[in-house]
Amino acid sequence: MAHYGEKVTETPTITIPSSLLPADGRFGSGPSRVRPEAVAALAAEADTFLGTSHRKPRVKDIVGRMRSSLHTMFGLPDDWEILVGNGGATTFWDYATFGLIENRSQHLVFGEFSSKFAKAAQSAPHLDGADIISSDFGSAPVAVANATVDVYALTQNETSTGVMTPIVRPDADGLVVVDATSGAAGIEWDHTQADVYYFSPQKCLAAEGGIWIAACSPAALDRIRSLSASDRWCPTSLDLGVALDNSVLNQTYNTPALSTIYLTMHMAEWINDNGGLSWSAARCAESAANLYGWAERTNYTTPFVTTTALRSTTVGTIDFDDSVSADQIAAVLRQNGIIDTEGYRKLGRNQLRIALFPAIAPSEIVALTQCIDHVVEQITA
Ligand SMILES: *Cc1c(COP(=O)(O)O)cnc(C)c1O
Repeated sequence: MAHYGEKVTETPTITIPSSLLPADGRFGSGPSRVRPEAVAALAAEADTFLGTSHRKPRVKDIVGRMRSSLHTMFGLPDDWEILVGNGGATTFWDYATFGLIENRSQHLVFGEFSSKFAKAAQSAPHLDGADIISSDFGSAPVAVANATVDVYALTQNETSTGVMTPIVRPDADGLVVVDATSGAAGIEWDHTQADVYYFSPQKCLAAEGGIWIAACSPAALDRIRSLSASDRWCPTSLDLGVALDNSVLNQTYNTPALSTIYLTMHMAEWINDNGGLSWSAARCAESAANLYGWAERTNYTTPFVTTTALRSTTVGTIDFDDSVSADQIAAVLRQNGIIDTEGYRKLGRNQLRIALFPAIAPSEIVALTQCIDHVVEQITA
Protein backbone atom coordinates (compact mmCIF):
# COMPACT_ATOMS: atom_id res chain seq x y z
CA MET A 1 0.00 0.00 0.00
CA ALA A 2 1.34 3.45 -0.91
CA HIS A 3 1.96 5.90 1.91
CA TYR A 4 0.15 9.24 1.93
CA GLY A 5 1.76 11.72 -0.46
CA GLU A 6 3.79 9.08 -2.25
CA LYS A 7 3.66 8.96 -6.01
CA VAL A 8 1.65 5.91 -6.95
CA THR A 9 2.89 4.05 -9.99
CA GLU A 10 1.10 0.82 -10.53
CA THR A 11 3.45 -2.11 -10.75
CA PRO A 12 2.05 -4.87 -12.90
CA THR A 13 2.71 -8.41 -11.75
CA ILE A 14 5.04 -9.96 -14.28
CA THR A 15 6.83 -13.25 -13.78
CA ILE A 16 10.14 -13.42 -15.58
CA PRO A 17 10.77 -16.97 -16.89
CA SER A 18 13.36 -18.66 -14.71
CA SER A 19 15.43 -19.53 -17.79
CA LEU A 20 16.14 -15.80 -18.22
CA LEU A 21 17.00 -15.01 -14.61
CA PRO A 22 20.58 -14.30 -13.53
CA ALA A 23 22.13 -16.73 -11.03
CA ASP A 24 22.15 -13.99 -8.38
CA GLY A 25 19.76 -11.03 -8.24
CA ARG A 26 22.04 -8.44 -6.63
CA PHE A 27 23.01 -5.61 -8.98
CA GLY A 28 23.23 -2.73 -6.50
CA SER A 29 26.12 -0.28 -6.58
CA GLY A 30 26.82 -0.49 -2.85
CA PRO A 31 26.41 -2.39 -0.71
CA SER A 32 26.94 -4.74 -3.59
CA ARG A 33 26.87 -8.46 -4.33
CA VAL A 34 29.14 -10.36 -1.93
CA ARG A 35 30.56 -13.57 -3.38
CA PRO A 36 28.87 -16.59 -1.75
CA GLU A 37 32.30 -18.28 -1.74
CA ALA A 38 33.64 -15.50 0.49
CA VAL A 39 30.69 -15.82 2.87
CA ALA A 40 31.19 -19.61 2.99
CA ALA A 41 34.90 -19.16 3.72
CA LEU A 42 34.07 -16.74 6.53
CA ALA A 43 31.46 -19.14 7.92
CA ALA A 44 33.97 -21.98 7.85
CA GLU A 45 36.42 -19.95 9.93
CA ALA A 46 33.85 -18.09 11.99
CA ASP A 47 34.23 -19.90 15.30
CA THR A 48 37.93 -19.13 15.56
CA PHE A 49 37.74 -15.65 14.04
CA LEU A 50 34.47 -13.77 14.63
CA GLY A 51 34.13 -12.72 18.23
CA THR A 52 37.87 -12.84 18.90
CA SER A 53 40.22 -10.02 19.90
CA HIS A 54 41.36 -7.66 17.18
CA ARG A 55 44.59 -7.20 19.14
CA LYS A 56 45.58 -10.88 18.80
CA PRO A 57 47.49 -12.61 15.98
CA ARG A 58 44.44 -14.40 14.53
CA VAL A 59 42.77 -11.15 13.47
CA LYS A 60 45.99 -9.18 12.89
CA ASP A 61 47.00 -11.88 10.39
CA ILE A 62 43.81 -11.32 8.38
CA VAL A 63 44.30 -7.53 8.49
CA GLY A 64 47.86 -8.13 7.29
CA ARG A 65 46.67 -10.36 4.44
CA MET A 66 44.12 -7.72 3.46
CA ARG A 67 46.79 -5.00 3.41
CA SER A 68 49.39 -7.02 1.56
CA SER A 69 46.99 -8.40 -1.06
CA LEU A 70 45.84 -4.86 -1.88
CA HIS A 71 49.47 -3.68 -2.01
CA THR A 72 50.17 -6.47 -4.50
CA MET A 73 46.97 -5.89 -6.50
CA PHE A 74 47.82 -2.21 -7.03
CA GLY A 75 51.45 -2.99 -7.87
CA LEU A 76 52.71 -0.54 -5.27
CA PRO A 77 56.37 0.10 -4.41
CA ASP A 78 57.52 -1.07 -0.95
CA ASP A 79 57.53 2.46 0.46
CA TRP A 80 53.76 2.84 0.07
CA GLU A 81 51.54 1.86 3.00
CA ILE A 82 47.99 0.57 3.11
CA LEU A 83 46.16 2.37 5.92
CA VAL A 84 42.88 1.23 7.39
CA GLY A 85 40.42 2.79 9.79
CA ASN A 86 36.80 2.86 10.80
CA GLY A 87 33.99 4.85 9.22
CA GLY A 88 34.14 4.41 5.45
CA ALA A 89 35.05 6.88 2.71
CA THR A 90 32.70 9.51 4.14
CA THR A 91 34.66 9.53 7.38
CA PHE A 92 37.89 9.58 5.42
CA TRP A 93 36.87 13.02 4.06
CA ASP A 94 36.89 14.29 7.65
CA TYR A 95 40.24 12.61 8.30
CA ALA A 96 41.56 14.34 5.18
CA THR A 97 40.41 17.79 6.27
CA PHE A 98 42.52 17.31 9.42
CA GLY A 99 45.39 15.17 8.25
CA LEU A 100 46.00 15.65 4.50
CA ILE A 101 44.93 19.18 3.57
CA GLU A 102 47.42 21.67 4.90
CA ASN A 103 45.71 24.91 3.83
CA ARG A 104 43.63 24.50 0.73
CA SER A 105 42.29 21.74 -1.51
CA GLN A 106 41.00 21.66 -5.05
CA HIS A 107 37.97 19.48 -5.75
CA LEU A 108 36.69 18.16 -9.04
CA VAL A 109 32.94 18.00 -8.49
CA PHE A 110 30.78 15.99 -10.89
CA GLY A 111 28.33 14.09 -8.73
CA GLU A 112 27.03 13.46 -5.24
CA PHE A 113 30.14 11.95 -3.69
CA SER A 114 32.70 14.42 -5.03
CA SER A 115 30.45 17.28 -3.91
CA LYS A 116 30.29 15.93 -0.37
CA PHE A 117 34.07 15.94 0.09
CA ALA A 118 34.18 19.46 -1.37
CA LYS A 119 31.61 20.60 1.20
CA ALA A 120 33.53 18.98 4.06
CA ALA A 121 36.70 20.83 3.08
CA GLN A 122 34.84 24.06 2.33
CA SER A 123 33.27 24.18 5.77
CA ALA A 124 36.33 23.16 7.84
CA PRO A 125 37.12 26.32 9.87
CA HIS A 126 40.87 25.62 9.96
CA LEU A 127 41.21 25.50 6.14
CA ASP A 128 41.15 28.17 3.46
CA GLY A 129 38.01 27.88 1.32
CA ALA A 130 38.22 25.06 -1.20
CA ASP A 131 38.90 25.62 -4.91
CA ILE A 132 35.96 23.87 -6.58
CA ILE A 133 35.84 22.98 -10.27
CA SER A 134 32.51 21.47 -11.30
CA SER A 135 31.02 20.07 -14.45
CA ASP A 136 27.55 18.94 -15.47
CA PHE A 137 26.57 15.53 -14.14
CA GLY A 138 27.38 12.96 -16.79
CA SER A 139 30.68 14.68 -17.64
CA ALA A 140 33.90 15.26 -15.66
CA PRO A 141 36.17 18.25 -14.96
CA VAL A 142 39.99 18.26 -15.10
CA ALA A 143 42.39 19.43 -12.37
CA VAL A 144 44.02 22.82 -12.91
CA ALA A 145 47.39 23.61 -11.32
CA ASN A 146 46.98 26.20 -8.58
CA ALA A 147 49.86 27.41 -6.41
CA THR A 148 47.56 27.96 -3.40
CA VAL A 149 46.42 24.33 -3.39
CA ASP A 150 48.17 21.50 -1.50
CA VAL A 151 45.64 18.69 -2.14
CA TYR A 152 43.97 17.84 -5.46
CA ALA A 153 40.84 15.80 -4.71
CA LEU A 154 39.87 13.52 -7.59
CA THR A 155 37.21 10.82 -7.87
CA GLN A 156 38.05 7.82 -10.00
CA ASN A 157 34.47 6.77 -10.49
CA GLU A 158 31.43 8.90 -9.62
CA THR A 159 29.08 6.22 -8.37
CA SER A 160 26.09 8.59 -8.54
CA THR A 161 26.41 9.26 -12.29
CA GLY A 162 28.44 6.36 -13.69
CA VAL A 163 31.27 8.62 -14.86
CA MET A 164 34.81 7.22 -14.73
CA THR A 165 37.83 9.51 -15.01
CA PRO A 166 41.51 8.84 -15.66
CA ILE A 167 43.73 9.62 -12.66
CA VAL A 168 46.20 12.20 -13.89
CA ARG A 169 48.51 14.22 -11.68
CA PRO A 170 48.31 17.92 -12.54
CA ASP A 171 51.62 19.59 -13.33
CA ALA A 172 51.89 21.02 -9.82
CA ASP A 173 53.05 20.42 -6.27
CA GLY A 174 50.42 19.08 -3.93
CA LEU A 175 49.12 15.65 -3.08
CA VAL A 176 46.72 13.90 -5.46
CA VAL A 177 44.04 12.32 -3.26
CA VAL A 178 41.67 9.99 -5.08
CA ASP A 179 38.28 8.72 -3.96
CA ALA A 180 38.31 5.26 -5.52
CA THR A 181 35.38 3.78 -3.62
CA SER A 182 33.59 2.27 -6.62
CA GLY A 183 36.74 1.85 -8.71
CA ALA A 184 39.29 0.17 -6.46
CA ALA A 185 39.84 -3.45 -7.61
CA GLY A 186 37.83 -2.89 -10.81
CA ILE A 187 39.66 -0.13 -12.69
CA GLU A 188 43.38 0.10 -13.35
CA TRP A 189 45.36 3.13 -12.16
CA ASP A 190 48.95 4.27 -12.21
CA HIS A 191 50.38 4.86 -8.75
CA THR A 192 52.79 7.51 -10.05
CA GLN A 193 49.73 9.71 -10.70
CA ALA A 194 48.37 9.62 -7.14
CA ASP A 195 49.44 9.98 -3.51
CA VAL A 196 46.38 8.72 -1.68
CA TYR A 197 43.97 6.19 -3.20
CA TYR A 198 41.15 5.55 -0.72
CA PHE A 199 37.91 3.58 -0.73
CA SER A 200 35.27 1.72 1.22
CA PRO A 201 35.12 -2.02 0.50
CA GLN A 202 31.35 -2.55 0.00
CA LYS A 203 31.42 -1.68 -3.72
CA CYS A 204 34.03 -3.07 -6.11
CA LEU A 205 35.56 -5.15 -3.32
CA ALA A 206 32.32 -7.02 -2.63
CA ALA A 207 32.70 -6.82 1.15
CA GLU A 208 30.72 -4.92 3.77
CA GLY A 209 30.84 -1.27 4.75
CA GLY A 210 32.18 0.40 7.86
CA ILE A 211 35.89 0.74 7.15
CA TRP A 212 38.05 2.88 4.88
CA ILE A 213 41.27 1.76 3.24
CA ALA A 214 43.86 4.18 1.84
CA ALA A 215 46.98 3.39 -0.18
CA CYS A 216 49.46 6.17 0.67
CA SER A 217 52.64 7.27 -1.13
CA PRO A 218 55.77 8.35 0.74
CA ALA A 219 54.82 12.01 0.11
CA ALA A 220 51.40 11.38 1.62
CA LEU A 221 52.95 9.62 4.62
CA ASP A 222 55.24 12.64 5.15
CA ARG A 223 52.24 14.99 5.06
CA ILE A 224 50.32 12.76 7.49
CA ARG A 225 53.23 12.66 9.95
CA SER A 226 53.88 16.38 9.79
CA LEU A 227 50.24 17.45 10.23
CA SER A 228 49.75 14.88 12.98
CA ALA A 229 52.77 16.30 14.84
CA SER A 230 51.68 19.92 14.30
CA ASP A 231 49.87 22.12 16.82
CA ARG A 232 46.65 22.02 14.80
CA TRP A 233 43.90 20.41 16.86
CA CYS A 234 42.59 17.07 15.62
CA PRO A 235 40.25 14.58 17.31
CA THR A 236 42.25 11.42 18.00
CA SER A 237 39.71 9.21 16.22
CA LEU A 238 40.22 11.32 13.04
CA ASP A 239 43.99 11.55 13.28
CA LEU A 240 45.66 9.95 10.26
CA GLY A 241 48.95 9.78 12.17
CA VAL A 242 47.24 7.54 14.73
CA ALA A 243 45.67 5.50 11.90
CA LEU A 244 49.11 5.11 10.30
CA ASP A 245 50.77 3.96 13.52
CA ASN A 246 48.03 1.35 14.05
CA SER A 247 47.83 0.22 10.41
CA VAL A 248 51.50 -0.73 10.11
CA LEU A 249 50.89 -3.03 13.11
CA ASN A 250 47.82 -4.52 11.34
CA GLN A 251 45.58 -2.82 13.88
CA THR A 252 42.97 -0.11 13.96
CA TYR A 253 42.72 2.62 16.60
CA ASN A 254 39.33 1.32 17.73
CA THR A 255 37.47 -1.92 17.12
CA PRO A 256 36.70 -2.76 13.47
CA ALA A 257 34.04 -5.08 12.02
CA LEU A 258 35.92 -8.35 11.59
CA SER A 259 33.56 -9.70 8.91
CA THR A 260 34.27 -6.65 6.71
CA ILE A 261 37.99 -7.17 7.00
CA TYR A 262 37.71 -10.88 6.25
CA LEU A 263 35.50 -10.39 3.18
CA THR A 264 37.78 -7.66 1.83
CA MET A 265 40.85 -9.88 2.30
CA HIS A 266 39.10 -12.79 0.62
CA MET A 267 38.04 -10.75 -2.42
CA ALA A 268 41.50 -9.20 -2.85
CA GLU A 269 43.16 -12.62 -2.70
CA TRP A 270 40.59 -14.05 -5.12
CA ILE A 271 41.35 -11.31 -7.65
CA ASN A 272 45.11 -11.78 -7.24
CA ASP A 273 44.77 -15.56 -7.64
CA ASN A 274 42.93 -15.00 -10.93
CA GLY A 275 45.50 -12.67 -12.45
CA GLY A 276 45.26 -9.47 -10.45
CA LEU A 277 43.92 -6.05 -11.25
CA SER A 278 44.31 -6.36 -15.02
CA TRP A 279 42.14 -9.50 -14.94
CA SER A 280 39.55 -7.88 -12.74
CA ALA A 281 39.47 -4.67 -14.81
CA ALA A 282 39.04 -6.70 -18.01
CA ARG A 283 36.16 -8.62 -16.44
CA CYS A 284 34.43 -5.35 -15.50
CA ALA A 285 35.10 -3.94 -18.97
CA GLU A 286 33.46 -7.01 -20.51
CA SER A 287 30.40 -6.51 -18.30
CA ALA A 288 30.36 -2.85 -19.34
CA ALA A 289 30.55 -3.76 -23.02
CA ASN A 290 27.61 -6.13 -22.50
CA LEU A 291 25.55 -3.40 -20.84
CA TYR A 292 26.38 -0.41 -23.04
CA GLY A 293 26.29 -2.52 -26.21
CA TRP A 294 22.76 -3.61 -25.33
CA ALA A 295 21.74 -0.04 -24.43
CA GLU A 296 23.01 1.23 -27.78
CA ARG A 297 21.31 -1.54 -29.78
CA THR A 298 17.98 -1.25 -27.98
CA ASN A 299 15.58 1.40 -29.23
CA TYR A 300 14.25 2.45 -25.81
CA THR A 301 17.63 2.85 -24.03
CA THR A 302 20.76 4.99 -24.26
CA PRO A 303 23.84 5.15 -22.05
CA PHE A 304 23.51 8.30 -19.89
CA VAL A 305 27.19 9.23 -20.27
CA THR A 306 27.64 10.43 -23.84
CA THR A 307 31.46 10.54 -23.93
CA THR A 308 32.42 6.89 -24.43
CA ALA A 309 35.76 7.18 -22.61
CA LEU A 310 34.01 8.50 -19.49
CA ARG A 311 31.50 5.63 -19.34
CA SER A 312 32.22 3.75 -16.16
CA THR A 313 33.26 0.12 -16.44
CA THR A 314 32.11 -0.51 -12.85
CA VAL A 315 28.78 1.35 -12.55
CA GLY A 316 26.54 1.68 -15.61
CA THR A 317 23.81 4.30 -15.92
CA ILE A 318 21.19 3.70 -18.61
CA ASP A 319 18.53 6.22 -19.60
CA PHE A 320 15.12 4.99 -20.73
CA ASP A 321 12.82 6.49 -23.28
CA ASP A 322 9.77 8.40 -22.02
CA SER A 323 7.61 5.54 -23.32
CA VAL A 324 8.78 3.27 -20.46
CA SER A 325 9.24 4.00 -16.76
CA ALA A 326 12.60 2.89 -15.40
CA ASP A 327 11.12 2.93 -11.88
CA GLN A 328 8.42 0.53 -13.00
CA ILE A 329 10.99 -1.78 -14.59
CA ALA A 330 13.05 -1.72 -11.41
CA ALA A 331 9.93 -2.55 -9.38
CA VAL A 332 9.08 -5.53 -11.60
CA LEU A 333 12.68 -6.74 -11.48
CA ARG A 334 12.52 -6.48 -7.69
CA GLN A 335 9.36 -8.65 -7.64
CA ASN A 336 11.46 -11.25 -9.43
CA GLY A 337 14.38 -11.06 -7.02
CA ILE A 338 16.54 -8.77 -9.19
CA ILE A 339 17.25 -5.90 -6.84
CA ASP A 340 18.80 -2.45 -6.44
CA THR A 341 18.80 -1.49 -10.13
CA GLU A 342 17.03 1.82 -9.35
CA GLY A 343 18.72 5.01 -10.58
CA TYR A 344 20.39 7.38 -8.16
CA ARG A 345 17.48 9.35 -6.64
CA LYS A 346 19.08 12.78 -6.63
CA LEU A 347 19.98 12.54 -10.30
CA GLY A 348 16.24 12.43 -11.00
CA ARG A 349 16.39 10.74 -14.40
CA ASN A 350 14.36 7.97 -16.04
CA GLN A 351 17.28 5.68 -15.44
CA LEU A 352 18.57 2.38 -14.11
CA ARG A 353 21.97 2.12 -12.46
CA ILE A 354 23.68 -1.24 -12.62
CA ALA A 355 26.81 -2.44 -10.85
CA LEU A 356 29.45 -4.02 -13.08
CA PHE A 357 31.74 -4.94 -10.20
CA PRO A 358 34.20 -7.87 -10.39
CA ALA A 359 32.01 -10.12 -8.20
CA ILE A 360 29.38 -10.03 -10.98
CA ALA A 361 30.20 -12.22 -13.98
CA PRO A 362 29.76 -10.60 -17.43
CA SER A 363 27.19 -13.30 -18.29
CA GLU A 364 25.04 -12.03 -15.41
CA ILE A 365 24.81 -8.64 -17.13
CA VAL A 366 23.62 -10.35 -20.31
CA ALA A 367 20.97 -12.19 -18.31
CA LEU A 368 19.89 -8.94 -16.67
CA THR A 369 19.47 -7.15 -20.01
CA GLN A 370 17.37 -10.08 -21.29
CA CYS A 371 15.17 -9.77 -18.21
CA ILE A 372 14.76 -6.03 -18.81
CA ASP A 373 13.79 -6.68 -22.44
CA HIS A 374 11.25 -9.25 -21.28
CA VAL A 375 9.74 -6.85 -18.73
CA VAL A 376 9.50 -4.00 -21.24
CA GLU A 377 7.85 -6.32 -23.78
CA GLN A 378 5.25 -7.33 -21.19
CA ILE A 379 4.64 -3.80 -19.94
CA THR A 380 4.19 -2.32 -23.41
CA ALA A 381 2.28 -5.31 -24.83
C1 LIG B 1 29.75 4.98 -1.69
C2 LIG B 1 30.76 6.06 -1.92
C3 LIG B 1 31.24 6.86 -0.88
C4 LIG B 1 30.74 6.70 0.53
O1 LIG B 1 31.11 5.50 1.09
P1 LIG B 1 30.68 5.17 2.60
O2 LIG B 1 31.34 3.86 2.89
O3 LIG B 1 29.18 5.10 2.63
O4 LIG B 1 31.19 6.28 3.45
C5 LIG B 1 32.18 7.80 -1.17
N1 LIG B 1 32.63 7.99 -2.42
C6 LIG B 1 32.20 7.25 -3.46
C7 LIG B 1 32.76 7.49 -4.82
C8 LIG B 1 31.25 6.26 -3.23
O5 LIG B 1 30.80 5.52 -4.26
